[in-house]
Amino acid sequence: MSSELVVYIDGQYYPKSQAKISVYDHGFLYGDGVFEGIREYNGVVFKLKEHIDRLYRSAHAIALNMPLTKEEMTKAVVETLQKNKMKDSYIRLVVSRGVGDLGLDPRKCPKPTVIVITDTISIRAGNAKETGITTMFSWVRRNPVDATSHEIKSLNYLNSVLAKIEANAWGVDEALCLESNGCIAEGVGENVFIVKDGELLTPPTSTGALAGITAEVVTQIAAKLHIKLTVTNLTPFMMFTADEAFFTGTAMEMVPIREVNKRQIGTGKPGPVTKKLIAEFQKVIEDPAQGVKV
Ligand code: PMP
Repeated sequence: MSSELVVYIDGQYYPKSQAKISVYDHGFLYGDGVFEGIREYNGVVFKLKEHIDRLYRSAHAIALNMPLTKEEMTKAVVETLQKNKMKDSYIRLVVSRGVGDLGLDPRKCPKPTVIVITDTISIRAGNAKETGITTMFSWVRRNPVDATSHEIKSLNYLNSVLAKIEANAWGVDEALCLESNGCIAEGVGENVFIVKDGELLTPPTSTGALAGITAEVVTQIAAKLHIKLTVTNLTPFMMFTADEAFFTGTAMEMVPIREVNKRQIGTGKPGPVTKKLIAEFQKVIEDPAQGVKV
């Protein structure tokens, strides 16, 4: 019996090696679609409802009519995990405009394509939480809110890919993206926070950053720990002179930033506020009440 993972495509399950979509799918041809990245921890899909809600908001923003109800979509995720007998996984939920003739008009696509991949992901070194990571401001500006804004979790990720290429080229772990007015928007697939004088600051989503579900969890943890959090524009100077800084995201979880464009952040080691938040974050992701049981 094969132990190959299966992938859900439009109600059918295919072995990972056979899980294919048409080259005429407008998700592939034009980046026309939306997605979510979700984590399962110990048999519980963390914040699944929040991710499904965001997926439907993204779809609404690109005028894509979902072929499934939220309940059916939730069931597809849970069923795929059950079939793959996975307890800890990274879930990629993709809904593209679907198959259509050439030409970018969405009306050419009668039916969206729904894909559920349940696999694993590795985007940071194993000890990054303890050592922190290096980052840099990339030359590529975040797509503005009146373009393919990252508020929409769409299949247009070239903006982030370009920033990542820059980080790779300069030998740092991750890139930071600025918005067109020079303030900090977010990482390539992470939200960003700084700590100054014991208080947290993070950019508003009006910079074109995604409203991160991990960032929302951190916001709730900060409130519980009575750590003041201000949502405000952050300049590169504020980052360089921060006491501490960290990224948040589903794939990366919470990771301290120790260096930005070769400037050491704080002591160059994860600071006390970041460490406290990471410890509490760990407890939250282990809490079965935070998600949907598989
Ligand atoms: N910003 C962008 C552009 C992202 O793709 C992600 C990953 N979904 C995030 C921020 C972090 O959001 P979340 O915590 O919901 O994963």
